[in-house]
Amino acid sequence: MTDLLSLPLPELARWMAQETGEPGFRAKQLYQWLHQKQVTSFDAMTNLPAALRQKLGKLGKIAQVETELLLESKLDETRKFLFRLEDGNCVETVWMEYHHGPSLCISTQVGCRMGCRFCASTLDGLERNLTPGEMLGEIYEAQRQMGRRISSLVLMGIGEPLDNLPNVLTFLGILSSAEGQRLGLRHVSLSTCGLVDGIRALMKENLGLTLSVSLHAANDETRSGIMPVNRRYPIGELMEACREYFRVTGRRISYEYALIDGVNDSEAKARELAALLRGQNCHVNLIPVNPVKERETKRSSRAAVERFVRQLGELGINATVRRELGTDISAACGQLRRTGQGKVSAGAGLEAGTRTSTV
Ligand code: SAH
Repeated sequence: MTDLLSLPLPELARWMAQETGEPGFRAKQLYQWLHQKQVTSFDAMTNLPAALRQKLGKLGKIAQVETELLLESKLDETRKFLFRLEDGNCVETVWMEYHHGPSLCISTQVGCRMGCRFCASTLDGLERNLTPGEMLGEIYEAQRQMGRRISSLVLMGIGEPLDNLPNVLTFLGILSSAEGQRLGLRHVSLSTCGLVDGIRALMKENLGLTLSVSLHAANDETRSGIMPVNRRYPIGELMEACREYFRVTGRRISYEYALIDGVNDSEAKARELAALLRGQNCHVNLIPVNPVKERETKRSSRAAVERFVRQLGELGINATVRRELGTDISAACGQLRRTGQGKVSAGAGLEAGTRTSTV
């Protein structure tokens, strides 16, 4: 059955005309119910004739994303949602509060096949891509639960967005559309582990979003040791694509660098990173690596993090250490994980005695 939440307005209008013979204004009404009022059933669409609502229910569906569990941090305003999809798979989504308003970190795949050694999302491999409707569903359901709209979005949850690019592009088109939620893509960040072909494809779309590149090491040996993707797209090729991305889009790239004790946090590594990025208009986001119980990577000491950021500054590289949110509910970078059919794993949050609510 066609998922109507996944269709951009022109495609929805085509579908409506073909399946129901209804004129274009009906498709626009349906689209507004789905993406502005964000209802989850055809019954709620009160300005559509009852017969049409019934017909829609037989011919199409609205992708369902349901809150299975909501974890609330005691330390800050962060919330972590465990969302259940129609096929029983679950993905995690994180709600964060910033001075400019709420931000949501969404998943783009069920699992991930990129294999980064420090990340929980890739532990069980990739199950499947999320559809555009499911990614929208993560946002709409979080907003329903919180009673507010988000002001920014990051594609940094489970999955590699550029490994699911066609669906991600459709999703962003609907999200920013005039008849939808109208979230400006300047308020969106997309994070990639460095799929060079995907970066170039995204560059051609020139969407105005911020591209974050998960670098984590400035030489091929270290990077390949922690990120298998580097064997396919080594640093030289990645940097060339990043420089071109900036030239074409005018958008400064944000590099993510997770500091791992004894792996990439020495003074020599900071000099190497500075040399690699010298002359690029970019920003470096340092994150002390977050613990994942199945992984051996240890976070750098506070002193090492401070030394690293200071050194980059001295070498003329724009760098900041990312503020950590939701640490008690395993809501931080790399801690989100997929859960399979029927299983619910709330991560470390439950063990920490965090307040939870099952919805
Ligand atoms: N696949 C995309 C987006 C998801 S991961 C990517 O790789 O960019 C979002 C960010 O969290 C990436 O920068 C990723 O490298 C980082 N990350 C993964 N595991 C982490 C961990 N344990 N500690 C800190 N950051 C981590």
